Amino acid sequence: MKGELHVHLNGLISPRIIQEVLVDERVDLPEGFDPHRDLVHRSACDTLASYLAPWQVLQRIPVKKENLQRMVDSAFERLAANNVRFVELRSSILYLAMLQNCSVTEAFERLIECTEISANKYSVRRALIMTVTRGDYSSVQLNTLMNAYKTLGQPQDIVGLDLAGDEEISFPADLPELFKEAKQQYGLGVTIHAGETGRPENIRIAVEKFDADRIGHGTAAGKNPWLMELLSERDICVEVCPISNRLTGAVSASDAHPLQQFREHGVPFVICSDNPAIHEKGLDDDYAAALTEGVSLQELRAQYEVAQRYSFIKDFV
Ligand SMILES: [Zn+2]
Repeated sequence: MKGELHVHLNGLISPRIIQEVLVDERVDLPEGFDPHRDLVHRSACDTLASYLAPWQVLQRIPVKKENLQRMVDSAFERLAANNVRFVELRSSILYLAMLQNCSVTEAFERLIECTEISANKYSVRRALIMTVTRGDYSSVQLNTLMNAYKTLGQPQDIVGLDLAGDEEISFPADLPELFKEAKQQYGLGVTIHAGETGRPENIRIAVEKFDADRIGHGTAAGKNPWLMELLSERDICVEVCPISNRLTGAVSASDAHPLQQFREHGVPFVICSDNPAIHEKGLDDDYAAALTEGVSLQELRAQYEVAQRYSFIKDFV
């Protein structure tokens, strides 16, 4: 049994389904884009930008509601095949609203409904995390999401907030305070993609300014003992995605994975898959990769309890 705390909805959908939806929705492919070749990564990418190539088309679908259901179903099929019993699924609801030409509130409702149907079908418990993208409009995005969240009466299926996107660019000065407000007022969990591109200060900012409960990737912490201490002291869990980290170059081929340092310094970690369909893998494979990166079998066996402990879902029995 497994729990999955860091996975993006559009990184979970089988390439076959993506291709079918691209055809069905008559999406114009970017020049030179070959879906058979460019929707998956089998070896390390030269840059993070090349890792993100599949999103050139992923960000254009689904336009139709029935295709959202089809894609969500594909995601849950993969989760179930990897024995995932609960998942915190993250996605950009604002993108969905734009694509489906509906209000943000309606996009929320559609996502909640579609994921509920597939979660029941595959017997996977699911909760949703709202992703905000780094950049000038992060605060506008968050306010829009929170307004829809409040309009819908704070659905209990929505458990957290995520900040994702290019770590090299800045965000509005009021963003950390808005994350903290959402956490304090509504009990939403906060996870921040930080330290994936070698910027340790982004991890410190995530902890000290955003009051993050968990850190996505956090690979830059490995070489910074002071950060290890900060994470360990505050009991902040790192969402470690071993396959993704190698494919994006977050951990280079010549370096050991910082998992070793996390273990040594008592930093809690949970093994996750990030974008398994893009890797043509599943969480099972990330568990196997974690073993080769130095995690013990005993630690892997404890992962289900660890994922429950750090999950934003609170009512495990
Ligand atoms: Zn991620």
